[in-house]
Amino acid sequence: MSEPLFDTLALVGVGLIGSSIARAARAQGAVRSIVATARSRKTRARVVELGIADKVTETNAEAVEGADLVIVCIPVGACGAVAEEIGSHLAQGAIVSDVGSVKASIVRDMGPHLPDTVHFVPAHPVAGTEHSGPDAGFAELFENRWCIFTPPPGTDPQAIEKLAAFWRLLGAKVEIMSSEHHDIVLAITSHVPHLIAYNIVGTAADMEQVTQSEVVKFSAGGFRDFTRIAASDPLMWRDVFLNNKDAVLEMLGRFSEDLAALQRLIRWDDGEALEALFTRTRALRRGIIEAGQDTAAADFGRPHGHED
Ligand code: NAP
Repeated sequence: MSEPLFDTLALVGVGLIGSSIARAARAQGAVRSIVATARSRKTRARVVELGIADKVTETNAEAVEGADLVIVCIPVGACGAVAEEIGSHLAQGAIVSDVGSVKASIVRDMGPHLPDTVHFVPAHPVAGTEHSGPDAGFAELFENRWCIFTPPPGTDPQAIEKLAAFWRLLGAKVEIMSSEHHDIVLAITSHVPHLIAYNIVGTAADMEQVTQSEVVKFSAGGFRDFTRIAASDPLMWRDVFLNNKDAVLEMLGRFSEDLAALQRLIRWDDGEALEALFTRTRALRRGIIEAGQDTAAADFGRPHGHED
């Protein structure tokens, strides 16, 4: 194992993402020590029990003191207030980052509270599961996944490179883009698909003709895959939609138009057009598998014959 890249990593928030970073950073020897804190006493106590940090502090301010890398791993909507809280406690030259799924609002809300003496490099590891909390994390979460950086113009390139080296050590591939571009790309690849899942599962839950038990019983079809996505953390996703409003509404507009077009194809028995679209979408799926972003195993590799 090579020399640690950072002396002290401070994690503010230790849920799925924060605890995965802690586990991966330790497994890779990326930092000398990890200081962690979380909002609730319960989570802090659990982090101590799990032993995934060297020190657990009661307050955010205490956690970041003396750290050369600070990563804020909490819902997007709470990041501004936390930046305000930690701003005056940050060590000179520290790299301050986050993991939020929306980026323009992070730059807007966190940036003004951070002193000029630190390097602010917002980041989004595009990796996750539908589970939450410190028990849900695992060291391999970021392997072969993208971590998108959205540094504001003028950010020190050395700080960007140092953070990139950290994420690469955790197994991720790093890409840099503007926060606005990030939010448009993620609106279509992640945010709108989640909204569609929440919507279809919500519609099924409200349906009177089909009993709830039938929805559960016959959920081996496409519906089951939607329910996995629709089980994602309600608070995190509330904040994603409230903070990426414009891009989500724009993509949703296009989606609704395309859906209306599909509706018409079905109404007019246009099998040829339906087949052409489904062939195109199948090719896109193949592209994702070839890029190593998913498994080609049938049914997402789920074991058959018993429940997973
Ligand atoms: P999580 O498992 O629910 O953990 C959230 C953490 O944030 C917990 O430590 C929680 O503390 C803390 N927290 C919640 N509300 C807070 C508030 N108002 N102020 C301060 N701390 C607060 O969530 P996660 O999945 O790790 O997500 C964290 C961030 O990563 C989010 O910004 C999300 O957009 C981003 N992200 C998530 C995924 C994913 O798939 N889940 C993927 C990429 C990025 P307590 O436990 O004490 O309440």
